[in-house]
Amino acid sequence: MRPIENYQQVWNNCLHVIRDIISPQSFKTWFDPIIPLQLKENVLTIEVPTSFFYEYLEANFIDLISKVLRKELGSNAQLEYSVRIVKEGSPVVYPPKGHVLPKNPSVPFSIDAGKNIPNPFVIPGLKQLQIDPQLNPEYSFSNFVEGDCNRLARAAGLNIAENPGRTAFNPLFLYGASGLGKTHLAQAIGIAVKEKFPDKIVLYVNANRFQTQFIDAQVVKNKLNDFLHFYQMIDVLILDDVQEFAGKEGTQNAFFHIFNYLHQSGKQLILTSDKAPVDLQGLEHRLLSRFKWGLPAELQTPDYATRIAILKNKAYLDGMQLEDNVVEYIADRISTNIRELEGALRSLLAQATFNKKAITQDLAEEITEKLVSTAQQEISISEIQKAVCTYFDISSESIISKSRKREIVQARQIAMYLSRNLTKESLASIGIQIGGKDHATVLHAYNTVCDLMETDRHFKQYVNDIEKRLKAT
Ligand code: ADP
Ligand code: MG
Repeated sequence: MRPIENYQQVWNNCLHVIRDIISPQSFKTWFDPIIPLQLKENVLTIEVPTSFFYEYLEANFIDLISKVLRKELGSNAQLEYSVRIVKEGSPVVYPPKGHVLPKNPSVPFSIDAGKNIPNPFVIPGLKQLQIDPQLNPEYSFSNFVEGDCNRLARAAGLNIAENPGRTAFNPLFLYGASGLGKTHLAQAIGIAVKEKFPDKIVLYVNANRFQTQFIDAQVVKNKLNDFLHFYQMIDVLILDDVQEFAGKEGTQNAFFHIFNYLHQSGKQLILTSDKAPVDLQGLEHRLLSRFKWGLPAELQTPDYATRIAILKNKAYLDGMQLEDNVVEYIADRISTNIRELEGALRSLLAQATFNKKAITQDLAEEITEKLVSTAQQEISISEIQKAVCTYFDISSESIISKSRKREIVQARQIAMYLSRNLTKESLASIGIQIGGKDHATVLHAYNTVCDLMETDRHFKQYVNDIEKRLKAT
């Protein structure tokens, strides 16, 4: 058995190994703040700043820590965590009431996190705290036209606005294709809550923005705590476009903890996504299962009558007089996307005012034709993959396979390159759709193709040919 003073040495030995394995950034963020406390027989106790910190270590580094600790202390090594005692009045992340610390049965580690956790306390000045909810006043319920396509989602939204956090719709998961009103409806709920309960803290945030904030918070000491703490104060959190979290595990993990904290505290969560929870790829199972706790509500493509109503409403808001035949013409031609309906109206208005043209059906035709043809130019990742496979005459399975054959690797890299250039999809999402690669692999493929195009004339010709074909369809 080792003497008790050895705890420092044991931990230093562990750090020595860990430092060589993980990135300096991760080491600094997750291991520098740990303080070894004691070693009793085979149990090492380490102090971590917060319970989130503990959970992050458990989720991301536990295999590594357990390996190095067993090397130091033998196969029955155990680790206990102690969460730092927090001084009264300083910001703290604490586990919410009834929070159960997960045990990891595959690792013989016991957890001692509960002991030093203070009672949740009220943060001084919280009541006066002003957080800009980041809401656009135009996205109100009064501007949101009801139709068969959105009736359920809208009703759920109104219900939540009356009683945030206390309905069956928590989280409310709004999903549907682009341009069908997810952002508008989610914001409308936020606006309505603010009107009825001005003291409630409402926050709208886009998933990409959340991700950037999280990354920024990780690199500055103590900022991660501020970040988590900030989000734990929110009463109604609206997270838009959660599909953007695909493949971003760190961000998902942080959001998972915020989600749990808020949900357990009876706070309202509203999420939007371009896909239903079952169809979301690249998101952790535990996060997806939480999304299904509440009500998934779909926004569908509007039917003709709703499209007419939306157009009339927008025209009215813009102070435009429209003949019925013009409205009907646009509603007939643009059927899948409300954003495009609006786009058509806006160009119509612009043309009419700047060129002093009357708003006639002819003008509407001219404008909608242009819009419809540009809308068709959006190219999808699967179209790109198909075009690449056709061009090189390889099977469409091989491009998403793990094959290391040279021509397949090259085709795959070209598909990733074109996906990055021709679509708005993130690197992570491109990777997932090409056989579950990570964003770094996609970036590497992109750079490789750029290099090859500069040095190899034939290669460049291939890529250009495929791109031309895609744009011609
Ligand atoms: P999404 O977030 O689903 O891509 P948005 O919420 O941004 O779509 O909606 C696209 C545009 O369509 C917005 O300008 C929004 O105001 C408008 N819109 C969507 N649904 C409706 C509706 N039911 N009534 C009125 N306008 C709508
Ligand atoms: Mg949106």
